[in-house]
Amino acid sequence: MAKKISILGSTGSIGVQTLDVARNLKIEVLGLTANRNIELLYKQILEFKPKLVSVGSEELAGELREKLGNFNVEIMHGLDGLKEVAALDEIDTVVTSIVGIAGLIPTLAAIEKGKNIALANKETLVTAGSIVMEEAAKRNVKILPVDSEHSAIFQCLMGNEKKTVSKIILTASGGPFRGKNSIELEKVSVDEALKHPNWNMGSKITIDSATLMNKGLEVIEAKWLFDLPLEKIDVIVHPQSVIHSMVEYLDGSVIAQLGSPDMRIPIQFALTYPGRADNHFSRLNFLESNQLTFEKPDYEAFPSLGLAFQALKAGGTMPVVLNAANEVAVDLFLKRRIRFLDIPRMIKDAMEHHSVVEHPKLHDIMDADGWARKFCLEFR
Ligand code: NDP
Repeated sequence: MAKKISILGSTGSIGVQTLDVARNLKIEVLGLTANRNIELLYKQILEFKPKLVSVGSEELAGELREKLGNFNVEIMHGLDGLKEVAALDEIDTVVTSIVGIAGLIPTLAAIEKGKNIALANKETLVTAGSIVMEEAAKRNVKILPVDSEHSAIFQCLMGNEKKTVSKIILTASGGPFRGKNSIELEKVSVDEALKHPNWNMGSKITIDSATLMNKGLEVIEAKWLFDLPLEKIDVIVHPQSVIHSMVEYLDGSVIAQLGSPDMRIPIQFALTYPGRADNHFSRLNFLESNQLTFEKPDYEAFPSLGLAFQALKAGGTMPVVLNAANEVAVDLFLKRRIRFLDIPRMIKDAMEHHSVVEHPKLHDIMDADGWARKFCLEFR
């Protein structure tokens, strides 16, 4: 079990739930980070008494210091702060719950120092899967999935030989717009898109769930985590979010992992692996959840999912461009500057204009990310 951890993005949805797990299991939290929300970070510092924290800017670091007075905690800021929190000597595990590609460099800093990674930040593997998995293998670092689908697959694979896997099946809730066609989707609002039927999450991933890009990013994440070819990764819509994902084996057996839609369960498993621990989280009641239904994803109404498959097939820096264009488009949508269906349009446009760099190094990834962001902001 993880004994001492840092949490990157402790003020977000996953970060707050990780602190709940840490509180319950009495895991020591030595490092915390926030981008802008110093009010919540302040409260977390008083409760968990970390050694080091980091915030988005020097100005916010100053404000936080003023609030804390003589309270004994070191405060850093920016990328250096994130890297230091991720690489603290005393910790064994880093929970990476920052949103977006901003999670990549600090995750690599943690791996370099041999810390195990409880990975929520899927964008890390989407953009730099080959580098991250290679570095982790070199240093014998475990990458433990927090994403509920990947945690499910990870658990369904335990005790089985990988060569006997015929495919993995990622389940998708279908989001708030399941069943709508593209004409109806032209008119949906930000508020409607933010109403996820089953999960309460940060705004970026909630919009990704509404466009189905979240499932696309998860397909790419799964490819790297489980080292599987695209042909062995399937997506199926399962609106109840009770089955978190499944593995089908060569002999026709299918192993599924089920549970209440509560992210604290996969977060806890990543922190207790290979063990398990008791908790007070809600239990699945089969008599209440007595309907498990399945549908094919609608690739026409939700083009983002197909774009993710295309990016994975193209390889190299294409998933970086998919991710960056999506980050920009979701941000513009949340600011009500573009419409819902402009999100996949913008991503497609960026992908069509990108010249792929194969076998990218870290600098190629950062260049492709910068190029796509500029492209989307200038040419939309
Ligand atoms: P939130 O938006 O709720 O939280 C994001 C966290 O990252 C906050 O602490 C935020 O700080 C911080 N942050 C945001 N931008 C930056 C930046 N540029 N630099 C440093 N820190 C930053 O996100 P979620 O918790 O929902 O998601 C986090 C990650 O986990 C995502 O990659 C998501 O895909 C993944 N995930 C989330 C799930 C969920 O249920 N929420 C489920 C599975 C995966 P501040 O609060 O100060 O802005």
